[in-house]
Amino acid sequence: MLNGKEITGFPGFCLGLTHQKISAKRAGAKFAEKSAEVAVIVLLDGPETAKLSGESGFQAPRFIMVTPLDHGKKGYNGYGAWLRAKFGGMKVFKVIVDAGFTCPNRDGSKGHGGCAYCNVDSYTPVLPRSLPDIREQFAQGIARARKHYGAEKFIVYFQPNTNTYAPVETLRELYDEALAICPEDVVGLAVGTRPDCLDAEKIALLESYSERLAVDLELGMESIHDNTLREINRACTHGELTSLLDSLAHTPLNLCVHTIFGFPWETREMMLAQADEINRFPQIHFVKLHHLHIVEGSILAARYRKQPFPLFSLEEYADFLCDFLPLLRPDLIIQRLFGVADQALLIGPKWNLPKSAVQTFLDREIERCGVIQGSRASERVKN
Ligand code: SF4
Repeated sequence: MLNGKEITGFPGFCLGLTHQKISAKRAGAKFAEKSAEVAVIVLLDGPETAKLSGESGFQAPRFIMVTPLDHGKKGYNGYGAWLRAKFGGMKVFKVIVDAGFTCPNRDGSKGHGGCAYCNVDSYTPVLPRSLPDIREQFAQGIARARKHYGAEKFIVYFQPNTNTYAPVETLRELYDEALAICPEDVVGLAVGTRPDCLDAEKIALLESYSERLAVDLELGMESIHDNTLREINRACTHGELTSLLDSLAHTPLNLCVHTIFGFPWETREMMLAQADEINRFPQIHFVKLHHLHIVEGSILAARYRKQPFPLFSLEEYADFLCDFLPLLRPDLIIQRLFGVADQALLIGPKWNLPKSAVQTFLDREIERCGVIQGSRASERVKN
């Protein structure tokens, strides 16, 4: 019953009431009053159009269909939902700082030219790139996130380059410097690095912050296949990553691994095998899934120009994720489903959509295919 009138329901649908402006927006509904009570039909098992009849509080009869995704229910564990649950519903935002590190395979200690796919500028926002002082970067990043996204709490994210590639005392100074800005609103520290740039002292330093903050240690995995790691000039083997993970079996750090899908010599099965490998390490808490980008200034850009190779289209990547996510352990939190690069530096693939539209497309495809993270993980273990 709705407003005293009977509503026509449909098998497989569930009727409910909400004030979901977002759902209404997606369905193309227009409201005289933003707060109008909206009758919604939650689509449970099919893409058919649902019809709602009866007096619903709208200015005129409406047809509205929403899916579980409209209520934030996804077939995988998204990072946004995890942050909200962890921090009592507050809006938590990661603010990137560039502390001016380099990498061992850029400065010659292990190699030159960096990883073949990498141009640090392609994934570093303009703000930290343009300000040399990390205090200033963080302060301005916080102000911007408050203004544009209504952010309430912050995670300092040391992202560009290798953020443990310095003596431990230098690291302590840099991390402390950033964390001293607005300490009452800082809830976390995230540090991106390579497995070969950590030792017991550096781990102990990071763990010391976990007494008061959520500390994420993000490790580049990129591929589990050493042939690929050689091919991309990674100057680090998969065994170095797994040894480090073994040594961190009981760490309080939130470990995150970063992967790349789409190297042209890797088969689909080689990429899917990354899920099995990640699943082997219960100490991994987060994953970042990226599709391969070809960006200006990278080694792969020169190779691609000379001899182009296939890159994921958006539809192909969605199809791949629909195969990959069921294989991934159900407790893992997915910080990212896809890579984002500075459009001015991106050579391919060009999906020509804003980040939010790509996210929506992928989420819709994942829902449409009925994907449930982890639904096939144990099946693979048995085989
Ligand atoms: S991917 Fe990371 S380790 Fe490789 S060159 Fe880029 S910043 Fe350095």
